[in-house]
Amino acid sequence: MNTDILIVGGGPAGLSFARALAPSGLRITLLERQGTDTLSEPAYDGREIALTHRSIRSLRELGAWQRIGDEHKSPLRSARVLNGGSPLALTFDTGDRPEGELGVLVPNQQIRRALYASIEGQDDLTILSGVSVATARTGNAGAEVTLTDGTVLKSRLLVAADSRFSSLREQLGIGVEINRLGRAMLVCRVDHEREHDHVATESFDVPHTIAMLPLNGRTSSAVITLPQDEAERLAEASDEALSESITAMYRRRLGTMRVAGSRHVYPLATTFSRRFVVPGGALIGDAAVGMHPVTAHGFNLGLQSAVTLASEIRGALRRGEDWAGDAPLQSYEKTHRLASRPIYTATNMIVRLYSDHRPPAQLARHAAIRLGRRLPFLNGAVRSMLLQA
Ligand SMILES: Cc1cc2nc3c(=O)[nH]c(=O)nc-3n(C[C@H](O)[C@H](O)[C@H](O)COP(=O)(O)OP(=O)(O)OC[C@H]3O[C@@H](n4cnc5c(N)ncnc54)[C@H](O)[C@@H]3O)c2cc1C
Repeated sequence: MNTDILIVGGGPAGLSFARALAPSGLRITLLERQGTDTLSEPAYDGREIALTHRSIRSLRELGAWQRIGDEHKSPLRSARVLNGGSPLALTFDTGDRPEGELGVLVPNQQIRRALYASIEGQDDLTILSGVSVATARTGNAGAEVTLTDGTVLKSRLLVAADSRFSSLREQLGIGVEINRLGRAMLVCRVDHEREHDHVATESFDVPHTIAMLPLNGRTSSAVITLPQDEAERLAEASDEALSESITAMYRRRLGTMRVAGSRHVYPLATTFSRRFVVPGGALIGDAAVGMHPVTAHGFNLGLQSAVTLASEIRGALRRGEDWAGDAPLQSYEKTHRLASRPIYTATNMIVRLYSDHRPPAQLARHAAIRLGRRLPFLNGAVRSMLLQA
């Protein structure tokens, strides 16, 4: 074996997993198709990640949270759901819980930078960048991977962290449920006249939905969901035209808005892998579960998957058992499936209800908000999901 564990993909999930295994005495190789500069200084990608308290704890344990400057951390006090121009809103906050805030928004770029800094120089870790996988196969004896430069690597365990459109997943023969939604998200930062009071909003309208994520100062991240071609067209608009469109779509709730950064378009597709493990291989992060961003759980679940798999492996090592064998892999599969399937299903139901623009669906949305306001346990359930996931 050249290495004990080969991780393919140096996104947040791959980086967290590599860090969560240190020190374990296992030789780890992390493979990323982008260059080292992109890993150490990733470009701003428009994603503002709403981190739950659990994720913050995990990032702190991984030594990454401390490396993110306070100026990049924006508290999220509450979240409101709005249906078009209706004055009714469904509000989620921490209630009487001690946390004080629902979570903290941090740019994905800063999380990736901090995670990379936390693994740099890690003992027994080799990082191969600027190279990709050509072919891969796994079995009870381990994995064999041929890279695009012809190098052959052998490992006891192969871990795919290569995004929701994972090519490795396919090579390992793992099927996947894919929902291509034909819609895309346009994200960009905007400055605005009024204070947002650190309240995030998701406003469902026709034909778009628009979310505002509160960043420090009078700045928010605007997240607009539209049919794919319309999102691409809007992304090409001048700063003035885009600012006007966003101000109008958001119904001037925060006054006049001005585009304050680069625009990024993400086509929307959700994915759920039929299995998370095979003999000699495992999927983590978006490669296992690719969530719709509307409930802001993709990163959080991906981090959870990395920490769970690492802890299964460490537990087996401690007990002197086969750390790459069936038992730790199956236990990871079971735990992560239980953690992710309900949130994935609930999120997809919300997406279906809120992307249907026919009048009955609009009425159903209105009724859902009206009913939700009268059901304190709903607020409690969503609050627990937001605070504990
Ligand atoms: C607009 C937007 C907003 C979001 N907001 C939130 C939020 O608020 N909260 C939240 O929890 N989540 C959020 N998410 C989801 C979150 O960004 C993802 O879940 C997370 O980035 C997934 O991390 P990952 O490491 O699994 O995959 P990725 O970030 O996709 O990284 C995969 C890595 O693998 C590399 N790679 C791919 N193929 C290969 C290969 N063949 N060989 C080598 N390397 C390869 C890629 O270059 C990349 O570096 C959001 C997503 C979007 C699009």
